Amino acid sequence: MTISPETAVHEVRRGRSSQERTAAACGEARRLSGRIVANGTLRAALTDRTIEVENPATGAGIGAVPRCGREDVDAVVSLAHTAWRAWSRRPARERGALLMRAADRLEEESEALACLSALETGNALATQARGEAATMVDILRFFAGLGGELKGQTVPAAPGVFQYTRRESMGVVGAIIPWNAPLMQTASKIGPALMAGNTVLLKPAEQAPFAVLRIFEILQEVLPEGVANCLTGLGEEAGRFLVEHPLVRKITFTGSTGVGAEILRGAAGKIVPVTAELGGKNPNIVMPDADPRRAADGILRGLRLQRQGQSCSAGTRIYIHDDIYDTVIDRVIEAIPAFRIGDPLDERTQVGAIISREQLARIERYVGLARDTAGASILCGGKRPVVQGFENGNFYTTTLIEGLPVSSEVCRDEIFGPVATVARWHDFEEVLAEANDTNFGLAAVIWTQNLARALDFVDRIEAGFVQVNQFSVAEANIEYGGAKMSGMGRELSVESMVQHFTWSKTVLINGNGAEE
Ligand code: NAD
Repeated sequence: MTISPETAVHEVRRGRSSQERTAAACGEARRLSGRIVANGTLRAALTDRTIEVENPATGAGIGAVPRCGREDVDAVVSLAHTAWRAWSRRPARERGALLMRAADRLEEESEALACLSALETGNALATQARGEAATMVDILRFFAGLGGELKGQTVPAAPGVFQYTRRESMGVVGAIIPWNAPLMQTASKIGPALMAGNTVLLKPAEQAPFAVLRIFEILQEVLPEGVANCLTGLGEEAGRFLVEHPLVRKITFTGSTGVGAEILRGAAGKIVPVTAELGGKNPNIVMPDADPRRAADGILRGLRLQRQGQSCSAGTRIYIHDDIYDTVIDRVIEAIPAFRIGDPLDERTQVGAIISREQLARIERYVGLARDTAGASILCGGKRPVVQGFENGNFYTTTLIEGLPVSSEVCRDEIFGPVATVARWHDFEEVLAEANDTNFGLAAVIWTQNLARALDFVDRIEAGFVQVNQFSVAEANIEYGGAKMSGMGRELSVESMVQHFTWSKTVLINGNGAEE
């Protein structure tokens, strides 16, 4: 491979030690501390209250962001509303060209953004944050190319009458995201919203705001003032005020099902549409005819260890047919210790730290419940590992639990950590019924060589994102989202941009009787 000047710089950056990367990312977090992005710039908030942000791998503080209240939300929404008309009237392809330039700038900064994200989320740079930064750029480029797709329809009418629909932008979009994959989630929100002619105010999660603030700071280099804004704060304050603000005409939310329900209630009061990407408790079913090696690999992938299992679409309910149960589960258990847990900014780390002490306590509570359940056994994990030099970090070993009753909270609740239940099954109808016996309906996976069985599963499983013989992620060009209490509306894809970030205006023009 020839090394161009750009790749040489990249290689040098990659060659840095984890301490150097951590120091650089901490410096960046300090620089962004106390700031929001509005008025086309990184600036102080009106409030002087702040929220401390911790490094999940050490427990040390890395900075503090404004705890914005109603005053800040009002001020920034009003700026975004003012910017909306001019932005929406720009030709769509021109908006796309600007978005494309923004994606290029983000790509140039992707290594620094990935390090900053790894620092605050605890996600490993090598297995998650770096790839996520690339996905962020990819998603933005995808939407930047969709200027020509904001189309309506012409519908036949009486002679002399012209009937058509046009897609219009909605106004200010309020976007709220969680902490588990903030680079990707930011792109999934702003890409379609901005391309469709809306302006945005995004609130990142309290735990991981800095990389998102930096993304918005970079966007200001390219986009007009007021088009893309970001403020920080608590969900029940800034998040709620954003949802309830009268000038916010669309909400796009990713987060837990409980908060999703609250947001829907808030939005109902002013009749605005909500896209909600919520929690999951996803079945991963291995049929007796599956290739055990591929199925074991798929189970490991499904655990989403690159995010410490903190993934909405993780396969956390594993069902393996009795015929191949021992072969498959032995392979999985054997492979797990090879996933190296450690400093997220160390190039060799594959599994980083759990986001917070609260989340770690939640995981431990569920594993404790399993331990106290008669008949249940912990097949592997179930403890905090010792990570030298990171003794105060929120690390947890990958945990598989067998023998729990279906009614157990461990089987029913979304734990959001590296914990999965494993069950042996004999009868397909029973396992399918069990897979569907949940309020969630996000993702589902089956492993089989039998095409008819696979299609039958696709037909009857109640989930929005179904895969056969792979455990992967949705790309930008296909829609993604949940059924049942896992969500409402869809993200990614041309269709979701048109359906969820524009509204349809119907126009009837009667040319009859017009002067000749
Ligand atoms: P969370 O629901 O606690 O918080 C998400 C965001 O909502 C944060 O920014 C938070 O500040 C804000 N918020 C909290 N209360 C609010 C309120 N009353 N009004 C407005 N905003 C409020 O979720 P989390 O713990 O940050 O993330 C984990 C959850 O996200 C899991 O349930 C996971 O499944 C889900 N998730 C879903 C998807 C998906 O695509 N379906 C993707 C990633 C994460």
